Amino acid sequence: MSKKYVYFFGEFAPKDGSIRDLLGGKGAGLTEMTKAGMPVPQGFTITTEACNKYYDDSKKISPDIIEQIYLNVDKLEKISNKKFGDAKNPLLVSVRSGPKFSMPGMMDTVLNLGINDEVCEGLAKLTSNERFAYDSYRRFIQMYADVVESLGKDSFEEILEAQKIKKGAKNDTELTASDLKEIVELYKKKYFELKKENFPTDPKAQLLAAVTAVFRSWNNPRAIYYRKMNDISHDIGTAVNVQMMVFGNMGNDSGTGVAFSRNPANGEDHIYGEFLMNAQGEDVVAGIRTPLDIEELKKINPKVYDEFCKTAKTLERFYKNMQDMEFTIEKGKLYMLQTRNGKRTAQAALKVACDLYDEGLINKKEAVLLVEPSQLDSLLHPTFDTKALKTAKPIGNALPASPGAACGHVVFNAEDAVTWAKDKKPVILVRVETSPEDIEGMYYAKGILTARGGMTSHAAVVARGIGTCCVAGCTALTINEKERFFMLNGSKVKEGDIISLDGSTGNIYIGQIPTVSATISGNFGRVMSWADEIRSLKVRANADTPKDAKTAVGFGAQGIGLTRTEHMFFEETRIEAVREMIVSKTKEQRVKALEKILPMQRTDFEGIYEEMQELPVTIRYLDPPLHEFLPTEEKDIKEIAKKLNITTDELKDVIVKLHEFNPMMGHRGCRLAVSFPEIAEMQTRAVIEAAINVSRRHKDWKITPEIMIPLVGELKELKFVKDIVVKTADEIISKSDIKLNYSVGTMIEIPRAALLADEIAKEADFFSFGTNDLTQMTFGFSRDDAGKFLDSYYDNKIYQNDPFAKIDQIGVGKLVEMATVLGRKTKPNLKVGVCGEHGGDPSSVEFFHKVGLTYVSCSPYRVPVARLAAAHAEIKYPRKK
Ligand code: PEP
Ligand code: MG
Repeated sequence: MSKKYVYFFGEFAPKDGSIRDLLGGKGAGLTEMTKAGMPVPQGFTITTEACNKYYDDSKKISPDIIEQIYLNVDKLEKISNKKFGDAKNPLLVSVRSGPKFSMPGMMDTVLNLGINDEVCEGLAKLTSNERFAYDSYRRFIQMYADVVESLGKDSFEEILEAQKIKKGAKNDTELTASDLKEIVELYKKKYFELKKENFPTDPKAQLLAAVTAVFRSWNNPRAIYYRKMNDISHDIGTAVNVQMMVFGNMGNDSGTGVAFSRNPANGEDHIYGEFLMNAQGEDVVAGIRTPLDIEELKKINPKVYDEFCKTAKTLERFYKNMQDMEFTIEKGKLYMLQTRNGKRTAQAALKVACDLYDEGLINKKEAVLLVEPSQLDSLLHPTFDTKALKTAKPIGNALPASPGAACGHVVFNAEDAVTWAKDKKPVILVRVETSPEDIEGMYYAKGILTARGGMTSHAAVVARGIGTCCVAGCTALTINEKERFFMLNGSKVKEGDIISLDGSTGNIYIGQIPTVSATISGNFGRVMSWADEIRSLKVRANADTPKDAKTAVGFGAQGIGLTRTEHMFFEETRIEAVREMIVSKTKEQRVKALEKILPMQRTDFEGIYEEMQELPVTIRYLDPPLHEFLPTEEKDIKEIAKKLNITTDELKDVIVKLHEFNPMMGHRGCRLAVSFPEIAEMQTRAVIEAAINVSRRHKDWKITPEIMIPLVGELKELKFVKDIVVKTADEIISKSDIKLNYSVGTMIEIPRAALLADEIAKEADFFSFGTNDLTQMTFGFSRDDAGKFLDSYYDNKIYQNDPFAKIDQIGVGKLVEMATVLGRKTKPNLKVGVCGEHGGDPSSVEFFHKVGLTYVSCSPYRVPVARLAAAHAEIKYPRKK
């Protein structure tokens, strides 16, 4: 028997967790609801494997898959007692995408498939509802033309709008059966005009074309972009669900809606959703008609409301997770069209996790897994200062669709949002309503404000998914896109003006409201404490100043994994001394400059030790890519020349000699200390003296500085610098009243060091992977320049992600794993960390956990993200016995 590509709902019984891989999220939900005996209109799922085969077969659906589709159509006809194309009793279906991970609005759907002229008439007779039949037909032509034939929506929308004006109808629902009949004729004409053929009448041909269109939509630009942003593989494909239509547009006893089992914005435990009577699904999500709150359904049809609430609770218990459901009411009967784990804000995710735990439905591990590490990011950024909010006067208010405090310049379209944001201008995207085409602009915007649409409109759903602040459905807002301004309750706001949005209250303000830093408390604190109990990978922070160190400790860092000492000199008042040191021609000049630097470094280190108390602090020795520090301005050159007592020409000569063609591979890191040992000597003085001073102030603290030598590629090189460090440190300690221990380790950031890690470990007390440089040098492209050409690598699907953001597990990761094993062969208890950017990226953290690192170190704001990611990794790949 050939491979099975099509499963009837309820048919697939997984032996392992692969139901979602094969049937996608929607298909899995429909099958599981069917098995649980819920009211699901029947149908079948064409698997993700069929989608992948379609691409493997040069974008053709193979005959065996077509045969299986038809067999399932037969089965559906038998079960439903209806027939495809039968005017007396027609079967109509929906054809909808359903990948493993939900990608809201990114792919295509066709509803009401199976209608032609005869079927439409039959449908009218059968339901005694001509209006309904022609409404369904015109919707079908419009969707089919757009989705299957890519003829666009606009020319059909124009016809509909013109007809509404002609008939004096404000809403679509006011159009009569004969109005809709006329529209259908005009649509068919328009279709012929654009496509040069008649609208297809054979339901089976319609079906295959629609399935193909859904497969094709897996690779439309917005779906590709969404996957890139959400780290979803391009290779998994989408399933397609073919489901018998039930009709929400059959009259006022019918309707359709979407609802969450809990509030997706704040996590509160109540049904939360919207619906429209006499409507089809796309009317609700597209934000075209403003839907009603689900509470209203209680009044309209209390029986259906109760049944829906009960179903929602059952599903929540089954999935042990908050659910996002679609339903249709056909002539007073409830049907469930979809259930999936609901997208929610970070705040809601934390509350749902704690509540489900308190309800006894899940354990701590399951609760921790309910919060996505990357989501926490939105909670770690500043919120509006409550004092400032009290005095600020909002110019308007709308639905608080996604929380956050956003300030930025007003723009009116997604392209401008992208361009302005790339220009480093924070933007607020203001739209009548958003559509999937706006996705990139929405990612770039700090906040989103829409005039139309409810809490489940496209803008609201996407914003919550990406953690961006969103205020939606501001009906008082009128936008003049042409002249680029909006009016809101008498206030005129022009493109470029700054506004603030409060995503928790829905308030809109002119100007910038001051913000305050975030803290970890309440549900956030609870989930983080569970994560800490679970994980084995430690989390440190990269911090260059006492202020950063304080932030890091506040966010739960267990030490500092990297202090970049050259960053301490970026300030105007300090950079001079570093420049003097760099351009010094003689050792005397350099020593003089270093003497100016020493007290600055010592004070900074003391400040850091004071903040960190006994937590470990790794201080990395100077590693300035020279081009970042050399003077370029005439005025600076003159001043430094004066200080060094040389002419400007002499100094310019030095600068020319110091020029490097590739500073990233230049005279930096330990190479500086090899050329100029006095630099390592000075830094050792600063580190050791600072530790002694703080130890004197806090007699009960045990401070053990970790000195880290960067850019090592050779054992002798490390030994050379280490000898200077040890000699200097021991001399100071021997003269001191404080007994101080310290360690000397190295960064592994040059491929040669990774290859020779067993050798290097002989002289290193610890390793820390500098994965920024290791990535740069393994790939052979400069981290400063790669951004200019990597886009074409993503476009051509050569790389899926930026390797500087997510560790390249198979290449650079192989070096990390190998060097860890080699290092521990020499020193079994070798402490091994990572301090490159990857230390704060959840998927990279999982990798570092798997290869057995001791800790990751990342920017202070990513510490909670890394803590949670480390707990997820431990749950999935336990290290603790
Ligand atoms: C690294 O290379 O990963 C690193 C942490 O050092 P830097 O980014 O300062 O080169
Ligand atoms: Mg480096």
